[in-house]
Amino acid sequence: MLITFKQAASKLKAANKILITAHILPDGDAIGSTLATMQMLRALGKSAQVFIDDDVRKNLHVLPHFEEIRRPVDGEKFDADLLLILDTSPDRIGNVAKMTDAPILNIDHHVTNKNDAGDLYVEPDAAATCEIIFKLAGELNVKITPEIATCLYTGLATDTGFFQFSNTRAETFKTASELVNCGVKPNIISEQMERRSAAEVLSMRTALNSLKIFYGGKVAGMFLDLPTMQNCDSTEGFIDLIRVIDGVDVAFMISERSEKVCRVSMRSKGVDVSKVANELGGGGHIRAAGCTLYTTLDDAEKILVAAIGKAL
Ligand code: AMP
Ligand code: MN
Ligand code: MN
Repeated sequence: MLITFKQAASKLKAANKILITAHILPDGDAIGSTLATMQMLRALGKSAQVFIDDDVRKNLHVLPHFEEIRRPVDGEKFDADLLLILDTSPDRIGNVAKMTDAPILNIDHHVTNKNDAGDLYVEPDAAATCEIIFKLAGELNVKITPEIATCLYTGLATDTGFFQFSNTRAETFKTASELVNCGVKPNIISEQMERRSAAEVLSMRTALNSLKIFYGGKVAGMFLDLPTMQNCDSTEGFIDLIRVIDGVDVAFMISERSEKVCRVSMRSKGVDVSKVANELGGGGHIRAAGCTLYTTLDDAEKILVAAIGKAL
């Protein structure tokens, strides 16, 4: 059920033992928003714990309290009176879904949020879930410590491509400005987020070598097979290498994660790629979306290029 911002805040006020989670393949917004909310709820005297059912990109391990994030072990249960799901609909949280039967509070900014379980507060115009959590701190009267601010700024910065993407709005800068006043060091966060291993940069070269252009230059794609992916901790930002090509409206990258499991990332300048992703079982935003295709890399290419062609 859709609820208002104030109702979402009330649900958090009423809860005492909160299990917090976010999507698998977690990004800066997923980790930043969960860690910030955990600290905020603890500051209110509640018990709060973050579980993420996936590995987390190394760059994000520097965030305050990162070491407290847990991954559920087989069949593990957690005593909670609220399951707080951030930055995704409830279908992308892996085995955390099985840890508790507590009511769900879902806070998100994805226009494609399926709204299929529990209470949902969704704000599609928010640049990041961290932008919503910042407002929530005000509503809950929680003081934003430098540690909380660092988590929130990281989510805000990474989801907006460091304030470059179309989701960046006046409120995003205002929030960032207030977070800097709370003690964030933007240059340090930028440096930490842009760090890459040599293996990752070499995988970038492999990705660029695979570049293909479709539909007379309107679409560009890159392909990473399983052996390449096995040497690569993260492909974060790879797609930005080709998003910038003159005349390209839709850029995509397909990476083979295991046999017949291909992960798709899309970026666009005009076409609504959230619709393309939705059609293929995924989701996201108008200009940044993704899905997983359960087939070979070659087949995934055919399916995706056809779906993008229809949307052009
Ligand atoms: P990415 O290309 O991984 O950065 O994802 C771009 C956007 O699409 C992010 O906001 C993701 O949360 C969203 N997204 C990616 N994959 C999926 C999926 N399988 N289902 C729903 N949303 C997705
Ligand atoms: Mn995310
Ligand atoms: Mn997000």
